[in-house]
Amino acid sequence: MKASTIFATLKTAAMSSSPTPIQAAFKTALQRELRGAVDPASREALMRAAAAACREQLAERWAATQAADAKRGVDAPVRRVHYLSMEFLMGRALGNAIAALGLDETLREAFAVQGQALPDVLERENDAALGNGGLGRLAACFLDSFAELGLPSFGYGLRYEYGMFAQGIQDGRQVERPDDWLRLGNAWEVPRADVRYAVGFGGRVEVDADGSRRWVPAETLVAQAYDFIVPAHHSERVSTLRQWHASAAAPIDFNAFCRGSYAQAAKHRVQADAINWVLYPDDSTDPGRELRLKQEALLVSASLQDLIARHLREFGSLHNLGKANAIHLNDTHPALAPAELMRLLLDEHGMVWDEAWAITRQAVSYTNHTLMPEALEKWPLYLFEALLPRHLEIIYEINHRFMEELKARFPGDEGLMSRVSLIEEDGGFGSGGERRVRMAHLAIVASHRVNGVAALHSELMVQTIFADYARIWPERFHNVTNGVTPRRWLQQANPALSSLIDSRIGKGWRKDLAELSKLKPLAEDAELGRQFRTVKRANKERLAALIRRELGIAVNPDSLFDVQIKRIHEYKRQLLNILHVVARYQAIVANPDANWVPRTVVIAGKAASAYQMAKSIIQLAHDVGRVVNSDPRVGDKLKLVFLPNYSVSLAETILPAAELSEQISTAGTEASGTGNMKFALNGALTIGTWDGANIEMAEAFGVENMFSFGLRTEAVAKIKSLGYDPRLYVEENRQLKAVIDAIASGEFSGGDTHRYRALVDKLLGHDSYLLMADFADYVATQLRVDALYQDPAAWNRRAILNVAGMGWFSSDRTIADYVERVWSVKSLS
Ligand SMILES: *Cc1c(COP(=O)(O)O)cnc(C)c1O
Repeated sequence: MKASTIFATLKTAAMSSSPTPIQAAFKTALQRELRGAVDPASREALMRAAAAACREQLAERWAATQAADAKRGVDAPVRRVHYLSMEFLMGRALGNAIAALGLDETLREAFAVQGQALPDVLERENDAALGNGGLGRLAACFLDSFAELGLPSFGYGLRYEYGMFAQGIQDGRQVERPDDWLRLGNAWEVPRADVRYAVGFGGRVEVDADGSRRWVPAETLVAQAYDFIVPAHHSERVSTLRQWHASAAAPIDFNAFCRGSYAQAAKHRVQADAINWVLYPDDSTDPGRELRLKQEALLVSASLQDLIARHLREFGSLHNLGKANAIHLNDTHPALAPAELMRLLLDEHGMVWDEAWAITRQAVSYTNHTLMPEALEKWPLYLFEALLPRHLEIIYEINHRFMEELKARFPGDEGLMSRVSLIEEDGGFGSGGERRVRMAHLAIVASHRVNGVAALHSELMVQTIFADYARIWPERFHNVTNGVTPRRWLQQANPALSSLIDSRIGKGWRKDLAELSKLKPLAEDAELGRQFRTVKRANKERLAALIRRELGIAVNPDSLFDVQIKRIHEYKRQLLNILHVVARYQAIVANPDANWVPRTVVIAGKAASAYQMAKSIIQLAHDVGRVVNSDPRVGDKLKLVFLPNYSVSLAETILPAAELSEQISTAGTEASGTGNMKFALNGALTIGTWDGANIEMAEAFGVENMFSFGLRTEAVAKIKSLGYDPRLYVEENRQLKAVIDAIASGEFSGGDTHRYRALVDKLLGHDSYLLMADFADYVATQLRVDALYQDPAAWNRRAILNVAGMGWFSSDRTIADYVERVWSVKSLS
């Protein structure tokens, strides 16, 4: 079903757009903002003025959207969605707001009067990096689509004062610096002094005379809302990201203050404030930290109290809460939500268990983002008991009833019961023998829908980590393949390609990305191919200029731009990419006069601060780059550059310039990927494994139009089960052996044979991600890439076919699928 039909019923209160008065209002706001600014206005002043003016417009739209949603009625087919996520990787907002409001030309002129160019002003905005990577960026794309589709919704997150760390490089090594993104203030957020909720921690549970249970927390914090407004582009709807800021309920201990003990007086305040400090900088390991659990609990509690308050305002009763509201868990981080919702319904609103549980099950749904068992959060019981005693009681009760159900359905299957229990009794891997609460299990038991993020991932999810649950409740598991917003990732990031596409098929793709398929018959048009290449070439020059500015390295804009940008992780196999660079380097040195296709390999990405192997890979990229880039025998036949501090803004500059997209994770490890989609949308060809959404992309634009290589999931499993020996591959392949030997012997580390010993040992010993097994095919496929690049017409044709096939990968389609399969009232029956 098309998204537009689903939402047709909501459009009764549709607001029509009238650009001219907006432009007028904008000019007034800009003048007011600039009144106090020095003359000529600095770029920062212009940026803030423009943001403030946009915000004013959007705030009105926000109020109108809320009013329209409040009237949606008891029988609305679409529930209001509450998207709970510990991460939102928003990036900059001004360019998006300007495009949404249709103010590009107005602002271009206004800035020109001040002697400034629009892109230079936009660059002054801080990048809101309140997320680690793909999971957080997905949440940000979803907010854009919520607005675009007119879905009644709230995104809920935390207002971290320091986002993802800023990555610096010193002597080729990653150094982490705090990312002080609020330093210049945040023009987008609207502090909501009127939206505040108390959130408790610790203390004990008291039992009243009538047997009802009451939690008496030892510590109470106040969560206050800050709203971040996200505009639609083709209507006047806006969506909201509501971020919570914690403070102490009693900010200072007045007695201590009067005694002159200032540190003592401020203790509560500092403890509360710590919750706001930083985004937990790791999305792949069990954090095991009290502060993180407090952050999660605060997000969940404040968001659900907000939902309940709004629902009571709108409907006056809680009985239809589950029918009117969806609560979505973006991974297990907010998986405390069902326990907190039960607590609120039982203890604060006097509901009986069965009704509260039915409502919870209706409301809650959960997206799994990874098959790696170590990434499924588990909290030690003692920590839960200390911080959230009432929640633990409720979890025990949920588990007790669940176990009773299983006893009836699967009599005698003790193994099943202990595997699916919400409580890990004996302490599994990494538990140190303590009992733990399994948050993923809580999320599944309490959800009416659980989904994976690409077809392969959803399949593997029910075959591996959640196999037991899929046996118990097969109807609960679904797939919703990820997508990206075409507004940010094509329209704004790549204005030249956007105009070229507009000139051939019109502007409709911005709203309905499926319209890109109209490009398909045009792929044979040589003139379009040449124009396409001209656009790409200009984008490459822009990236080349950035590389020169940032790193002092001159790269040839006529070389093939081969790009891998994403979090640094062993399973994503940046190391395989570097091994190929070394192989190519050795081949060029051995045969410098061969007809080499000049290549510039670009890598960017952050490594989790405690992840030594990932940091070692970053260092190797620098070491290899230094040697290769300065070797006169190589010249511009090969360059390897590492661009520091990967972020949404950096991605927006790099993607439009990419010609080859590296999506080379070991088959079965990348849940979906969304970087892969952004590249293809910008006309890069993909060299990729049969993994995540690569598969669905290949199916969409034709497998023959992707450089597909490597072992597939079944082959990976088979090789591993037969006893994989990476050394055999090295011994058999002279090229691979030479590459490994060069790294091990210190050729890239100034003779230091120690630096990469751990890395090489791991490759030759376990090689869990099968780099050695995939190396030969990868290198051979890279040669096929070269061959095609030598035929520009053929390359252009394929690039256009890639873009033409990307219509399905819009986050608008993803959200329409969520509505259909997970969030609609229909999904409850
Ligand atoms: C899209 C995006 C990601 C996700 O990239 P993958 O290649 O899918 O891992 C991570 N970080 C940023 C800044 C992004 O824009």
